[in-house]
Amino acid sequence: FNVPVAKNEPVRTYAPGSDERKKLQAKLAEMRSVEMELPMVIGGNEVTTDRRKRIAPPHDHKHTLGYFSEGDASHVQMAIDAALEARKEWANMGWQHRAAIFLKAADLIAGPYRDKMNAATMLGQGKNAFQAEIDSACEIIDFLRFGVKCMTEIYEIQPESAAGIWNYNEYRPLEGFVFALTPFNFTAIAGNLPSAPAMMGNVVVWKPSNTAVYSAAVIMEVLREAGLPAGVVNLVHVSGPVAGDVIFNHAEFAGIHFTGSTEVFQRIWKTIGENIYKYKSYPRIVGETGGKDFIFADPTADPQSLAVAMLRGAFEYQGQKCSAASRVYVPESIWDEVKERFGKMLATVKMGPVEDFTNFVNAVIDEKSFDKIAAYIDGAKKSPDAEVIFGGGCDKSVGYFVEPTVILAKKPDYVTMVEEIFGPVLTVFVYEDEKMDETMKVLDKTSIYALTGAIFSQNRYNIEKMAKFLENSAGNFYINDKPTGAVVGQQPFGGSRGSGTNDKAGSVFNLLRWTSIRTVKETF
Ligand code: GLU
Repeated sequence: FNVPVAKNEPVRTYAPGSDERKKLQAKLAEMRSVEMELPMVIGGNEVTTDRRKRIAPPHDHKHTLGYFSEGDASHVQMAIDAALEARKEWANMGWQHRAAIFLKAADLIAGPYRDKMNAATMLGQGKNAFQAEIDSACEIIDFLRFGVKCMTEIYEIQPESAAGIWNYNEYRPLEGFVFALTPFNFTAIAGNLPSAPAMMGNVVVWKPSNTAVYSAAVIMEVLREAGLPAGVVNLVHVSGPVAGDVIFNHAEFAGIHFTGSTEVFQRIWKTIGENIYKYKSYPRIVGETGGKDFIFADPTADPQSLAVAMLRGAFEYQGQKCSAASRVYVPESIWDEVKERFGKMLATVKMGPVEDFTNFVNAVIDEKSFDKIAAYIDGAKKSPDAEVIFGGGCDKSVGYFVEPTVILAKKPDYVTMVEEIFGPVLTVFVYEDEKMDETMKVLDKTSIYALTGAIFSQNRYNIEKMAKFLENSAGNFYINDKPTGAVVGQQPFGGSRGSGTNDKAGSVFNLLRWTSIRTVKETF
């Protein structure tokens, strides 16, 4: 298949004084100053309601960025009807024409929409310029371009044919519609979850997170400008239960593409199970959920690279990545040095609004998140089993700011070593060097999630031992690197256990879930 070669989109640096920084700053100022009205988009039509919900930047919650129209069950039904209507043509369209739309969408984001995508993500979701750039520019572009490449690779997977016989696989879209339920923390994921099934010829009802509707609106704008026909992807703003009630009771519900909490995913799975007799086919259930990602260092670990991985892995985007490092196991013999190096770097880290590009840490997404994170920190301050050794301050008066915080746990199963916090909180457990194997066992036992994990060592025997021992504790495993920042096409992303179905976003493994194969045998 002659599709353009997929290459990772180069990351812009927005260096001080550069034109790209000036342009992005101008876009931020412009988007801050107008109040947006964000409609739903159903069957190609913009649909507004009189239930207007306010959107505010997490770092400045009294400021109004705009409003989005909230819908109800009737809008979900309209979206399903529009999707099924669009399916009549879309499912039969030649793959080149679907590919062209998504490749054009990638080009639009790489070019004219880049600043708008990044500014919407920075203002709406509280990302600094670099975190926005690697997400709402590079990663979404990569998802679209590599998605097209993977789609054609799948089409090339064909069975053998014996003499006088011709066998072939037809990669049909699923019969019905797909539901994309997308998170706040990655604009790229929000774009990929509806796009991947649509690329494979499916039609989609898309419900973004209420705390990421601003960037979702820009993604929808790009898809429409790229030529996506009306009804192929329908954007609705409704509460989860309202959407679920209509969607999971519908005979043509064909699959869900989900990123979000483990609890919600499990509830959805159960509902689908209970409704199984209502559906035409077994729905595809694809989800990426929680994480409690680890770094495990041995006594030979390089203290400086470990300290950098802890800082970046735990605190980039305020720790609100499913992949964020949130628990670290460090041997006693190197801890003092690691702590000192880490502390020195942390002292240079600035926290504040996204408009100031020197801020590394910004606000967490909303008040609910803030309160949850603050409660864990408060608990650690009061617990005899823990000590807050860095940060610990929380202030929600202007924005939802939580200082990068490090907790020292006295027990390896202390609550913040086990539960997902989804904020800038890192817990460290210092183990006695000779208890390395025992500590690894506790790590594995307390891994109810298994998304990402990193080991640090300069001893190859230990690297092999740790990699084997922790085989099932992470779907993305890093040796001497932080456990975040998977790049599409390079580290296919996903985990098992409580972290999801491990269908590896942005790869053939994921796209295969959105096709139902008909195998044809013709005898000559
Ligand atoms: N793919 C992202 C990373 O590697 C994390 C995605 C997520 O948080 O869901 O950091």
